[in-house]
Amino acid sequence: FRDRKLICQIIPFENRRQILVTHDVTETVRIEEMRRDFIANASHELRTPLTVIVGFLEIASSDMMIDAETRAAHLKLMTEQGHRMQRLIEDMLTLSRLESVDYPLRRERVDMRALVEEILGEARALSGGRHTIGATVDGPDVNGSAEELRSAFGNLASNAVRYTPEGGSIALAWRDGPGGPRFVVTDTGIGIDQSHISRLTERFYRVDKSRSRETKGTGLGLAIVKHVLLRHGGNLSITSEAGKGSSFIANLPGG
Ligand code: ADP
Repeated sequence: FRDRKLICQIIPFENRRQILVTHDVTETVRIEEMRRDFIANASHELRTPLTVIVGFLEIASSDMMIDAETRAAHLKLMTEQGHRMQRLIEDMLTLSRLESVDYPLRRERVDMRALVEEILGEARALSGGRHTIGATVDGPDVNGSAEELRSAFGNLASNAVRYTPEGGSIALAWRDGPGGPRFVVTDTGIGIDQSHISRLTERFYRVDKSRSRETKGTGLGLAIVKHVLLRHGGNLSITSEAGKGSSFIANLPGG
């Protein structure tokens, strides 16, 4: 019973004997801890931009002598922080929908060529010509949710752009394989140290918080990717080397 959390109950039985009943509540406690951590992290993430917005609003309402240029700069910062809160809330709602039993997966025939082209266009727009980005499509169409797969594969592609310095390359590929088709995103970016890899799909887990924020990250992208793949019966595998680049492989089941 080492490492297990147990609740023990002693129940009187006939002839002055007793029965010892144990309940293993390890899983319940773990889920409760995860829920608590999530609420604490989410509140903290939302409090930071809100503090900035409230701060500038207080300045605006107390200091009448503020010049037009400063006012414009404050409004710009408040708008950025407002958008950050919107992104966080959108991603939190997406995650909670993906986990909800009331939101079953709606499968349809997904045109993978069109989907990959759409993701390639978005990645190029995000890069603004700072990277070389290409895509190949050799795999079959699949039965799944086009909306969810677009969001998952799009997250992997946008991460590759966000974590690859200017001049780097990114390759998107939809391939078939013996275990099933897969979407592979390879970049020549900053890479990830091995010690972080197993934790990347945890909510709000980031290797470098300030880099994630600068590039408009919420820390929820890979958690969304993981849930979409799980719902489709697939999984995510990650290989990376710090300073060299990464490969994110979204595996879907075959057949
Ligand atoms: P974020 O919004 O912070 O990018 P994600 O959940 O998408 O959140 O990713 C979690 C973390 O994984 C990132 O903060 C970053 O440290 C790391 N990461 C994700 N994709 C890459 C990549 N292609 N190259 C290097 N690091 C990455």
